[in-house]
Amino acid sequence: MDRIVSVGILGGGLAGLALASLLAERGHRVTVYERDRAGGKLRRETVGGLVFDTGPSLFTFPGVWERYLQQLGEADPLQLQPFPGGLGIHHTPFGPVPLPVPLEHPLYASWEKYRAKVQPLAPHIVSLLTTPPRLTDPVFLRASQALFKVIGPHPTAESWIRAQNFPPTLAHAIRTHALNAGLSPTDAPALYALIPALVGAEVYRPALGMGALLDALLGFAAGRGVDVREGVEVMRVEGSTLALSSGEVVQHDLLISAIDPHRLAKLRGLPATSPVSKRTVSGVAIYAALPEPSSLPATSIIPPSNFQTFRAAMRAGALPPDTLALVHADGRKLAVLLTAPATARPLGPEHPWIRAQIQRVEQTLKVPGLLASANESLALTPEHYAAGGHPGGAIYGAALPFWRGGPLHPQPYRVGPKLWQVGTGVHPGGGIPAILGGALMVDRLLSRA
Ligand SMILES: Cc1cc2nc3c(=O)[nH]c(=O)nc-3n(C[C@H](O)[C@H](O)[C@H](O)COP(=O)(O)OP(=O)(O)OC[C@H]3O[C@@H](n4cnc5c(N)ncnc54)[C@H](O)[C@@H]3O)c2cc1C
Repeated sequence: MDRIVSVGILGGGLAGLALASLLAERGHRVTVYERDRAGGKLRRETVGGLVFDTGPSLFTFPGVWERYLQQLGEADPLQLQPFPGGLGIHHTPFGPVPLPVPLEHPLYASWEKYRAKVQPLAPHIVSLLTTPPRLTDPVFLRASQALFKVIGPHPTAESWIRAQNFPPTLAHAIRTHALNAGLSPTDAPALYALIPALVGAEVYRPALGMGALLDALLGFAAGRGVDVREGVEVMRVEGSTLALSSGEVVQHDLLISAIDPHRLAKLRGLPATSPVSKRTVSGVAIYAALPEPSSLPATSIIPPSNFQTFRAAMRAGALPPDTLALVHADGRKLAVLLTAPATARPLGPEHPWIRAQIQRVEQTLKVPGLLASANESLALTPEHYAAGGHPGGAIYGAALPFWRGGPLHPQPYRVGPKLWQVGTGVHPGGGIPAILGGALMVDRLLSRA
């Protein structure tokens, strides 16, 4: 694509905005259509007078962000700061363990063994996250060989963990971490079990909060003349023509979908099926303004008491007896993220299941009644995530089989000659590194198309 073209991007979440600047940097005329507010799952909400950045909280693999900045020739505006406590304290049934495991902890030697095992992949992980998987690309080949060397004959996270004979506490925490990325360890590729070691202490957040990432992407886009049209929904896609909620019908030379693939199929008049058993998880995120600063650690993770029962419930679209919970505490701000099946349910804070999960979390953290004491709280439910994302509210979209779920398999970036896609529903793992890496890959593939 060496001539200048007009590009229409569907969806102004982080993925759509990230790719918009890359394409505008190449000289293309880019318009982003966003049905709601730019930012998608990352949005600023004021609760009880405190500003919360909803959605992503942990900024990992900063090397991917650096590559993105290099591609744009931009300086880093984020001032990334280490996230206190790294990946957090995992409350396993065998006792709590912080990840990364600190020097003075009895599991430190096992953690170091785990890190040493994964180390050969560390210099290649950013390449793996940013390079289109092609056997003709020497960078991809070296990175994938490094990955194979570490995973050996163990294709899933669960089979890899079992083969390592880790002490049960560490094994449990690593399993939980795989689950945190939206899939049970039995369904996730082995790479998910390597992530805690690869991330190590490299967990960050921007000095001014995660909202600074949105500001940065919007600033880069504005500086390159990208037109970000908020409150404009794409209602239909026919070829390279878009029918908009404003009543306009617009034509572009190239369309990029940065929305969930199921939504795109619907807009194109195609059937889109997404059985519950093939979805990543959704969640209920509760943001609460406490009357006093809490003394909780920055991040606590409470796993479900039984991984099998949990997995079966998620696959059936049912509520498990207990669920994975992630708690972030920052002064008077408290965020509780409860994993729930992706069935678009409006699971509000008064729902008995939510109340039971909150009670379990508060018991584990020894802070009974903490949420009830909040001055104000806001709950974002699977129904909320479904409104602009996957129809069931699956945070990372459809679940791919483990052999397609890692970076080794080409993803469906190119839907047609004039229609490409990017974003969390297309990139396994789905978090910020995956979507920024995906934007870099699509930009590169398009520049050669
Ligand atoms: C609770 C929670 C915690 C998370 N924690 C982390 C974390 O710690 N670290 C991390 O890296 N990631 C995390 N993530 C994942 C991360 O937030 C997402 O991967 C990322 O925000 C997804 O960006 P996206 O642009 O692909 O999709 P989205 O944010 O879903 O953006 C899609 C956009 O498209 C718009 N849209 C949809 N249909 C249309 C249409 N027809 N016309 C116009 N616009 C449309 C939507 O309104 C939306 O703005 C978390 C997510 C959640 C929900």
